[in-house]
Amino acid sequence: MRETAARYLDSHCHLQASRFIPEMSRIMARARTAGVTRIFCNATREEEWRTVVDLAAREEEVLPFLGIHPWFAESARADWEVRLMDLLLQVPAGIGECGLDKSCRADFSLQQQLFATQLQMASELRRPLVIHCVRAWGRLLELLEGCAGPLPPMMIHSFSGSIETLQRLIRLGCFISFSPRLATDSTIHPCFLATPLTRLLLETDGQGRPAPANEQTMVYDEPAAIPLLYQSAARMRDMELHTFCHEIWRNGEIFTDTLFPR
Ligand SMILES: [Zn+2]
Repeated sequence: MRETAARYLDSHCHLQASRFIPEMSRIMARARTAGVTRIFCNATREEEWRTVVDLAAREEEVLPFLGIHPWFAESARADWEVRLMDLLLQVPAGIGECGLDKSCRADFSLQQQLFATQLQMASELRRPLVIHCVRAWGRLLELLEGCAGPLPPMMIHSFSGSIETLQRLIRLGCFISFSPRLATDSTIHPCFLATPLTRLLLETDGQGRPAPANEQTMVYDEPAAIPLLYQSAARMRDMELHTFCHEIWRNGEIFTDTLFPR
């Protein structure tokens, strides 16, 4: 009996990026050829919500996430949360990308306000939430640990925090997603290896950056490139690739379970 081919999940990217749009049919064809059959596509501001919803309606591999990224906190117009809620009630979508980022210029109190609203919305609607966090782990943990309602399913994307932070996020039930930085930045390795297999996800974080000149750089930017990250990640964990892919696929299904029942 032939073993079924590996199915890959790209747990975080931005297919709506302007450099991807004119290439979309080729990007999706390359993804399918590579076995990448599920892609979590994240909007970063209100202007992108409709594009992401339309993309997900056209491409069955694409699951949409709608939110406001901390970099774009200042793009939030009055009543954005009313319009986001309306759209979420019409469309099966997760919430994100949202979060906290002290390395960007957007006002930090505004970032916290937007993040708290999206967290609360995800909790109320039981939608999966995609979290971006840079240099703001203490505040993120305070907000999550102090959350009054039940926490939604959560993913920390492109994780880059400490082991202590990782352990607290795991206790809160978060999935931890690693980007191709895993292959280039060895300081991430201890956290990658300390993440329980049942909480692990892998992403391209693709946003339309030019393709790499050299495959060895592992700076891949479209979903079709993710099998290479899976290969190096499976090697680091001393796991057989097919089994590893299966586990990550299942984690993605559990993360989106409230939205797309298995
Ligand atoms: Zn992102």
